[in-house]
Amino acid sequence: MLRNCRQCGALFASSGSDVCPECLAREEEVFRSVRAYVVDHPDASVEEVAEAVAVEPAVILRFLKQGRLIGVRAELTCESCGRPISEGRFCSACVAALRSGLGDHTGPRSTFYGAPRRRPRP
Ligand SMILES: [Zn+2]
Ligand SMILES: [Zn+2]
Repeated sequence: MLRNCRQCGALFASSGSDVCPECLAREEEVFRSVRAYVVDHPDASVEEVAEAVAVEPAVILRFLKQGRLIGVRAELTCESCGRPISEGRFCSACVAALRSGLGDHTGPRSTFYGAPRRRPRP
């Protein structure tokens, strides 16, 4: 289906991604830099990594939420129960619950990009 690129706004034929192939390629490059930095600086904070790679912290957070990036200190919380997690969008308990199909933990379908940020303070 056709959609507008979240980054540059260009219309493109999407196969599930919400950025166009051009922006995706750029994002891949960023991801490689980010991962290289994290390998060299384990336990760096999101802000440190973002500054080192010269991108918005939100970009790093997105990688974390996608579960592609691990080893960065971030204040992620499970989108279902709000427990602190280190990677991805849900804690292991909620992932297990979701996998076994018990109830609908995700609520109304929302994406990380479109949903309002829910960052409950501990
Ligand atoms: Zn684009
Ligand atoms: Zn949870």
